[in-house]
Amino acid sequence: LKKVTILGVPFININRKDFVALLKKRIETEQKTFVITANPEIVMKAKEDSHYMDIIHQATYVTADGIGVVKAAQLLNEPLPERVAGFDTMMDLLEIANQERFRLYLLGASQSVLERVMARLVAEYHNVEIMGAHNGFFDWEDDSIAREIRELEPDLVLVALGVPKQEQWIARHYDSFKKGIFMGLGGSFDILAG
Ligand code: UDP
Repeated sequence: LKKVTILGVPFININRKDFVALLKKRIETEQKTFVITANPEIVMKAKEDSHYMDIIHQATYVTADGIGVVKAAQLLNEPLPERVAGFDTMMDLLEIANQERFRLYLLGASQSVLERVMARLVAEYHNVEIMGAHNGFFDWEDDSIAREIRELEPDLVLVALGVPKQEQWIARHYDSFKKGIFMGLGGSFDILAG
């Protein structure tokens, strides 16, 4: 897959439909995957923080989350096809998870938001198996959430701790996981909770 680098951040050159199809395939073939949907805020953060930039380079895929990123690519004469936003990608993945009976783990947001998200998933995505969930306010040194995910082996792990915590959490534990799509989703649970 061709990449377009903007301020040191390597974006994959793909539209959302093809990206979601790619993730589906990687779930089916059990290829572990770290996804960052990077908006201009993330690009600027990476530019200023070399640790964060290192984490960005550990991701399997970085997508262009924001019209600003798409515009910048255009100016560099290396156009990206469209915006591939975290929330939209998550909604597409939930559709596919429902069709394919994928197994899900949710990490992030407040307990009440998380419970509303789970209620909505149970009501609207009958075939998605929610293996487990944890709110986003936990002791950073406590590895029990990562251990639980290791044991449950979900197909899809949605991590909504905000930037940069979500990427830091995934990078910290990524090597210990065998399979799964790990994706940072910012405030997406709050939106999904309604
Ligand atoms: N959040 C969390 N743990 C934290 C800090 C934030 O789970 O330690 C959650 C917060 O409840 C919200 C989400 O992270 O649901 C994203 O927050 P925000 O909108 O500030 O992040 P952004 O979308 O800008 O990355």
